[in-house]
Amino acid sequence: AKQQGGNRIKFYSTDMNEQALYRIELEGYLRKALEKNEFFLLYQPLVDLKTGTIFGSEALIRWNHPKLGLISPAEFIPLAEETGLIHEIGRWVLLTACKQTKKWQEMGLGPLVISVNVSATQFQQPGFLDDVKMALTESRLEPSYLNLELTESLMLRNLHYSIQLMKELRELGVHVSIDDFGTGYSSLSYLKNLPINALKIDRSFIQNLHENESDIAIVKAIITMGHGLQLKVVAEGVETEQQIRLLKELKCHYAQGYIIYNPMSAEEFERSIFRFNNI
Ligand code: C2E
Ligand code: CA
Ligand code: CA
Ligand code: CA
Repeated sequence: AKQQGGNRIKFYSTDMNEQALYRIELEGYLRKALEKNEFFLLYQPLVDLKTGTIFGSEALIRWNHPKLGLISPAEFIPLAEETGLIHEIGRWVLLTACKQTKKWQEMGLGPLVISVNVSATQFQQPGFLDDVKMALTESRLEPSYLNLELTESLMLRNLHYSIQLMKELRELGVHVSIDDFGTGYSSLSYLKNLPINALKIDRSFIQNLHENESDIAIVKAIITMGHGLQLKVVAEGVETEQQIRLLKELKCHYAQGYIIYNPMSAEEFERSIFRFNNI
């Protein structure tokens, strides 16, 4: 194409092609991001609703690109999955999160648990169990302090294999949670066969909890079921005092959300560890 009046004449003029080009550009950057140290983790505290103490945190990845700025995981994780880069990125997240948590434990901040998100292709990849073992060995974190967050859709891709792998993880001593619980289309009957420790109620059910009778009914049912199945229940996306009050009434074990704590840097997290007793 040639230059005209300062505006580039584009061969690719449709939005589709611009998107495709952006994607290719992004993919190129993503390939370099690990070696260039552009990823970092934020930690969002999980609070025990009964005692008000910080029970642990969820590691949330961020990508800071020098030119594009901060890119959300909602944008680059799908791309990392498609390109296979998720394996390397996932290994980095596991190791970094485990090391950080071990460091906090050694600093005397308490028996903190770290929750790490695992995406579908990362979990299904043959080396995943070894990646987990490696992160635990290198960080010297005790396995019971690592909690993997898996989604229903991830497990249903290959239920038999998933259950087998989850059993092996549990044998290691690692904990497993179902993330975004309630958003899958699966039947509940498989739940009793899953070797899991916790259910994390999806944010969409928590959002309008204080004003929506159906959401209250659903959340109540999930919590009751969790209790019956000896599972811990976590509520994510908690944004109001009313939601906290309702969740406490319903005997939800743990909560996480902007009203409690935002996702924060490791340094901020260290400063925030104190009894959360004003709820
Ligand atoms: P998720 O696992 O459901 O994580 C919760 C998301 O909700 C996070 O968004 C968090 O910042 C946000 N959040 C926390 N409290 C509140 C609240 O009170 N209100 C609202 N509206 N949102 C809240 P984030 O950090 O942008 O992550 C988005 C998604 O990206 C995550 O959803 C997870 O699926 C994925 N993700 C993040 N980090 C990783 C990672 O290290 N590996 C993988 N595979 N996926 C990750
Ligand atoms: Ca999660
Ligand atoms: Ca969610
Ligand atoms: Ca998720």
